[in-house]
Amino acid sequence: MSKKALPIVSAPTMVATLPVSGIKVKYRPFVIKEQKALLLAQESNDPDTVVQTIKSVLDTCSHGTLDFTSVPTADLAYFFIQLRIASVGPEVKFSIPCEKCGHDNPIAMSLEDVKIDASNVKRDVRITDTVGIKFRLPTVDDALEADTETESIKLLYNLIECIYDEDTVYKKEDYTEEEFVDWIESLNDQQAEKIKEFVDSVPELTHTLSFNCVECNHHQSRTLEGLHNFFRFGASA
Ligand SMILES: [Zn+2]
Repeated sequence: MSKKALPIVSAPTMVATLPVSGIKVKYRPFVIKEQKALLLAQESNDPDTVVQTIKSVLDTCSHGTLDFTSVPTADLAYFFIQLRIASVGPEVKFSIPCEKCGHDNPIAMSLEDVKIDASNVKRDVRITDTVGIKFRLPTVDDALEADTETESIKLLYNLIECIYDEDTVYKKEDYTEEEFVDWIESLNDQQAEKIKEFVDSVPELTHTLSFNCVECNHHQSRTLEGLHNFFRFGASA
């Protein structure tokens, strides 16, 4: 006797527009087993486990349509927040210790208020009047690699698309990594400083909270930035 399969429970299909790349992603909210995986990852306190779990949940919930090798980290972080809102709701509650007296202050905020400013991304940096570098935005895989990589120059190398001058574009694939790294290391301080214009313009998920301490009334503000800061809101209501 074959028994009937359990009934299929359909999930709503939603669409998010990723603010940095403009990509539209169809997704469904996460289910209990994914919520459990997120909680376990959170408890592991291991950054690699956290990122791998987020990737796997985002992948399943977006029906495998996200290309993790090209979607910027900020977009993934934004998408994760949208998923959390769709699955658990926008409200989060946590506490922040007062910077003056250390008293724990209860904070309630809406994840709907978390923004990404992608208006000033500077992927093209001129390091002299005639020579420039074009960069691509970092992905979570770059972040994973950066964790294990002590030299930030390797990360920088990974992010370069090409170097150019007045009449030539020097594509990365035509040179060895060593040739490019040597070239970066031959820059002087002032020229290397220009690269910071790109680094500083990389968009991140941010939210600034202002509050008065319930104990000493001291006014203060705190800025939450980056995926790791928002991940802790992931699965718990
Ligand atoms: Zn205080």
